[in-house]
Amino acid sequence: MEHLHLLLLSLSLLITSTTTTSSSSTDFASCLKSNNINNFTLSSDTTTTSSFNHFLNYSIQNLRFNPDSSPLKPVALVLPDTLRRLRATVLCSRRASLTIRLRSGGHSYEGLSYVSSGPDPFVVVDMMNLNRVRVSPETRTAWVEAGATLGETYFAIHDSAGRDSVTGFVINRAGSTRLVTQLVHKWQRVAHRLPDEFYLSAFVGAGLPEYRGEPPGLSVTFKGFYQGGIREAVEVLAGRFPS
Ligand SMILES: Cc1cc2nc3c(=O)[nH]c(=O)nc-3n(C[C@H](O)[C@H](O)[C@H](O)COP(=O)(O)OP(=O)(O)OC[C@H]3O[C@@H](n4cnc5c(N)ncnc54)[C@H](O)[C@@H]3O)c2cc1C
Repeated sequence: MEHLHLLLLSLSLLITSTTTTSSSSTDFASCLKSNNINNFTLSSDTTTTSSFNHFLNYSIQNLRFNPDSSPLKPVALVLPDTLRRLRATVLCSRRASLTIRLRSGGHSYEGLSYVSSGPDPFVVVDMMNLNRVRVSPETRTAWVEAGATLGETYFAIHDSAGRDSVTGFVINRAGSTRLVTQLVHKWQRVAHRLPDEFYLSAFVGAGLPEYRGEPPGLSVTFKGFYQGGIREAVEVLAGRFPS
């Protein structure tokens, strides 16, 4: 008998929470529409399931948190494209008692931009359409909206600087611990002294695909970006960091 009571109580709690979620998602949708925001999908709307899943999964970088394998899916996904619509989305979420997960690039290691930490209904507000980049060469300042990718940012800077070309490269060096240590040591002394137009990062890993030997060993990956042509980029590197 006690078990039956517990089961009935759990069922009634489940029904109450499902009803609350469905009414908050309806309120939320009406509020968005009344603010002229149409770029959103609801998880409860079965006619838009494929686009809901497409945009939700679009920038999930940690597949452990793929909501397909999680019971806690967002109630809605909104992609505001102006600051006014972003502000209205936040107000509508509050009014419908929905927690907000704000997503820019989706790279959070813990999936914080698209999963919930508890049972409360939540909405994912994705910034991908807020991707404008304004560059002021006079003040050497760039205003970058949160949804802009690094590529879009570089492109805008390149446009405003009026340069003909930019150069990007990735170089892997795999080998003994001694070799990798020597390369990183040298990089530490060189990278910050390169011309301002030069960016050079180093990433050390074990068992990366770049190292094909057995057992898996160390490798260092240099990622570079230069605001100028390939010939100048090679000249700078050959002079400062030939190894
Ligand atoms: C494969 C991989 C490689 C990485 N490599 C590097 C690296 O080389 N160097 C490095 O420094 N880091 C690296 N990181 C870590 C990464 O920089 C951080 O996880 C960073 O937070 C990602 O930003 P995002 O916009 O993609 O995050 P998101 O997942 O979009 O958001 C992260 C957190 O910030 C909140 N948030 C997002 N946008 C906003 C906003 N506009 N305003 C307020 N809050 C916001 C989110 O709600 C969430 O809590 C890497 C991560 C991954 C997965």
